[in-house]
Amino acid sequence: MPIRILSPDVASKIAAGEVVERPASVVKELVENSLDAGATQVAIEVQGGGVRLIRVVDNGIGIPPEEVDLAFERFATSKVATADDLEGISSLGFRGEALPSIAAVSEVTMVTRSKDELSGIFVNIKDGAILEKAKRGCPVGTTVTVRNLFRNVPARLKFLKSTATENGHISNLVAQYSLAFPEVRFTLLIDGRTAFRSTGSGNLREVLGSVYGLDVAKAMLMIEAKENADPMLPGVTGFVSPITLTRASRSYMSFFVNRRWVQNRMLTYALEEAYQGLLMVGRHPIAVINISLHPKELDVNVHPTKNEVRFRNERDIFSAIQKAVRNTLTVQAPMPTLDTLSGPPQPVTASQAERLPAFANSPEEAVTRTPIATPPQSTEPVAKSLPILRVVGQLANTYIIAEGPDGMYLIDQHAAHERVLFEKIRNERSRRAVEVQGLLQPVTVELTVSQQELLELQSEALSEYGFGIEHFGERTYLVRSVPAVLRGQNVAQSLVEVLDFLAEGEKGDRREEIAISLACHGAVRAGQALSHEEMRDLIRQLEQASQPRTCPHGRPTMIHLSSSQLEKGFGRR
Ligand code: ADP
Ligand code: MG
Repeated sequence: MPIRILSPDVASKIAAGEVVERPASVVKELVENSLDAGATQVAIEVQGGGVRLIRVVDNGIGIPPEEVDLAFERFATSKVATADDLEGISSLGFRGEALPSIAAVSEVTMVTRSKDELSGIFVNIKDGAILEKAKRGCPVGTTVTVRNLFRNVPARLKFLKSTATENGHISNLVAQYSLAFPEVRFTLLIDGRTAFRSTGSGNLREVLGSVYGLDVAKAMLMIEAKENADPMLPGVTGFVSPITLTRASRSYMSFFVNRRWVQNRMLTYALEEAYQGLLMVGRHPIAVINISLHPKELDVNVHPTKNEVRFRNERDIFSAIQKAVRNTLTVQAPMPTLDTLSGPPQPVTASQAERLPAFANSPEEAVTRTPIATPPQSTEPVAKSLPILRVVGQLANTYIIAEGPDGMYLIDQHAAHERVLFEKIRNERSRRAVEVQGLLQPVTVELTVSQQELLELQSEALSEYGFGIEHFGERTYLVRSVPAVLRGQNVAQSLVEVLDFLAEGEKGDRREEIAISLACHGAVRAGQALSHEEMRDLIRQLEQASQPRTCPHGRPTMIHLSSSQLEKGFGRR
């Protein structure tokens, strides 16, 4: 075949194919025109998956009578005039292609009335030509009706999916525009049934409720808006899901650039980067991200469908999104940090010790306290506090040898440390000043049914001690923080062991036992070599404990050989 110029009919169908891929593309173009016309109400109606009928009714500015014909001409637009205008597009449409493209592959009627006119104009267009044009009474605004889409393009018709699939694309599209334009009231009628509606109140969280349901809408975190931001820098607003609210698919992330719905991998990547390490593999956030940019920073003229954009400075956008989202996640759902309130232990005088809370000082407390914390009855009454001890050395990497004013002390390093930690933890909890260790990477823990039951039962107590635990589905939990005493320990194992420790005994209040179990896990082990310094520290802390002579389980922390016992033993007396 020799080269020749295509007939207008063939050329327009080829061009239309780029714009109108499926029924949802028609809905998109018509809705964009309504929004560009400043409509506050957009009603969409479809029948037969959009193939039989698509109608979009708006209350926008309408088209003046003398311009109606032009609207259906290729490259006829009211939105740009010069090539320079392409540099700073702020409307959704600008190519002047939609109406002629739609008209090339369907039968279109339009009724429109601009606000200065007393009546409207009706036009009927078939195969791109105006068949009928007449005055008609109608409210200000525009109604476009598209019938028999693709009937003259059988190849395209064949490739359409089921009615349900096409309806799904249309619903999604309307939902996306409602998210981008919360101040516009959208309704979508599918085969006579209301499939979607938004109120047009301007409240994005409310639209989220219409799109994703109330529970999601309530849980979503509003992105903190930055004040006095540089207008040349990208602004990021919208909503993101907390890390506890995720989806298995990426289709719950919506991005709008200057209110244009765009699909862009960099944007998705930036968002997911902000959740890095916070979500389980294969889970994705829900998000509505509005990016506002100076129009000059953006090229929207990339593809006839206009849902691709190019950014002049991708890196700025990337970091703006990542920062805004990360900031929202940390500010509104704070990750536990080290509690600086509890500093290093200070020497405590006897009178101060009496004023320390929660050491079984009040009678009620003494009654409700489990017997574990009090010394076993069998031991002879012991002096409450310890004298000042001088560390001599370590025995078998297990015992500390110390000297006091009245003889020698052999101290079990694990039992002693347990006592110290137990009192510290218990004291901190009662002061609500528990030292918490946030985990950079949350740890997932699989629990058994009974462990899970215990966890749910004791969740409040566990959180008072600094455990940040979230249910992750089934029997999986996510540990985000632990009591600081467990620093450096295997988190999953420690939690399971605390639960197993709680499994023995009755249900009730188990705070004491939790403290015991934590102390046990955090304490130095027998067999661990300690420096002289470490031993001295431990003994200093033990001296300040309220009940230094027993571990929280009730076993002795030390054996005392008094000076007189020594003398007796060696036959000195
Ligand atoms: P574009 O949106 O790229 O300008 P279209 O083919 O979609 O091109 O529309 C052509 C012109 O028709 C628009 O520029 C606008 O002036 C007018 N128009 C189309 N739809 C509407 C509408 N719903 N309300 C008001 N004007 C409209
Ligand atoms: Mg348009």
